[in-house]
Amino acid sequence: MTAREIILKKRDGKSLTASEIDFFIHAYLRGEIADYQMSALLMAIYFRGMSFDETVTLTRIMRDSGEVVDFSYLPGVKVDKHSTGGVGDKVSLILAPLVAAAGVFLPMISGRSLGHTGGTLDKLESIPGFKTRLPLDRFKKQVAEIGACLIGQTDEICPADRRIYAMRDATATVQSIPLICGSILSKKLAEGANALVLDVKVGNGAIFEGDAAAEELATHLIRTATALNLNTVALLTDMSQPLGIAAGNWVEVVESIDVLQGRGPADTRQVTLALGAIMLQLAGKSKSLQSGMTQLRALLDNGAAWEKFLEIVRAQEGDTTFLENPDKYPAPKHRLEVKAEQDGFIAAINAREIGQLSMLLGAGRKTVDDVVDYTAGMFIHKKVGSRVEKGEALLTLQNSGPLPEANFIQTARSCFTISPQNVTPPKLLRKLLSAQGVQPITEIE
Ligand code: URA
Repeated sequence: MTAREIILKKRDGKSLTASEIDFFIHAYLRGEIADYQMSALLMAIYFRGMSFDETVTLTRIMRDSGEVVDFSYLPGVKVDKHSTGGVGDKVSLILAPLVAAAGVFLPMISGRSLGHTGGTLDKLESIPGFKTRLPLDRFKKQVAEIGACLIGQTDEICPADRRIYAMRDATATVQSIPLICGSILSKKLAEGANALVLDVKVGNGAIFEGDAAAEELATHLIRTATALNLNTVALLTDMSQPLGIAAGNWVEVVESIDVLQGRGPADTRQVTLALGAIMLQLAGKSKSLQSGMTQLRALLDNGAAWEKFLEIVRAQEGDTTFLENPDKYPAPKHRLEVKAEQDGFIAAINAREIGQLSMLLGAGRKTVDDVVDYTAGMFIHKKVGSRVEKGEALLTLQNSGPLPEANFIQTARSCFTISPQNVTPPKLLRKLLSAQGVQPITEIE
């Protein structure tokens, strides 16, 4: 079998066998298949798709491309959460300590920002000293001792995803359901989780904009995960505007601190509590979603989740004095306000463009090699449905590097659509899906 024959087969819409997929991935990792051939196969998969069996096989082979962590010596169900990516999505920073404070083990392998979406690793690394590159042994020890550890992909775990994801980003093949299933689930299976909650974002800042496409992705993820014994539930949540009030890195850490101390924006808190309640139920730690919500609210309000966050940061060598006193953090060199030019109500926000602008300010990266400015980001003062008066600030932009070109402010202002009529804010929690189908959502609203 040759790489060319396999590409040809997929190009012509035929199914690949397990041995063909296995051969292609392993030969690529050994350097025997060129990047241009992998790019061609990815584009063929993008256009031709993959059957359910092919998707499961791809996921399994990607999982087994590196070490598969076994946490079976720890009691109970090990649960993780994964978001399909959005703007202002700092939920993992809050959720990991919160759910660990409820006695659940969370092995969490997170990603970096790319394009318009932020990444948990960059947010964590904005805490001075925080290490996200830990040897696997230390990762396992921390999960066992503290309950949660948040690291990046290592050379030992899913090397296939690390290589293929970079290629997908460069070849515009990210939005492919079988490739997303393979990428997300291989990592979750390899890190040793037995259950997973997926935050599938819906809206203009999400990987798929429409409700139907997001639901199709969620359904495929659940089916593929179930076939590989990963008990998975998906919550579809709104990404038609940024989550919370901060988008960037350190600014999102500060918002996370607020939520962990029992304050913070209502939407960030609600998405976190809802995902957390699902995780408690998957772990068998609560009888109902409602009792999970009550348990988690108490852990936010009594300081236990905040203490757990400090414990995790200390264990990963982060300087907690910056968390206890955020004013100590270096101030951004530039700060600019974007003001409304008319009165009215915010009818829509272009979340994708906001994410793009945040990236251009230095909070994210255009290519994997870009260096992140941790002080860069923005505060979103007006959300959909808010009343605004001419001259009021819509956004505060900040960074420490060069300011983007002059029309930047105009572009930022155009992210907001202002209407004379009152507008109803979008529903934050859209749908809850499990292997059994659509589940009621009222208990977590
Ligand atoms: N997140 C991932 O880890 N992989 C994808 O393919 C998309 C989102």
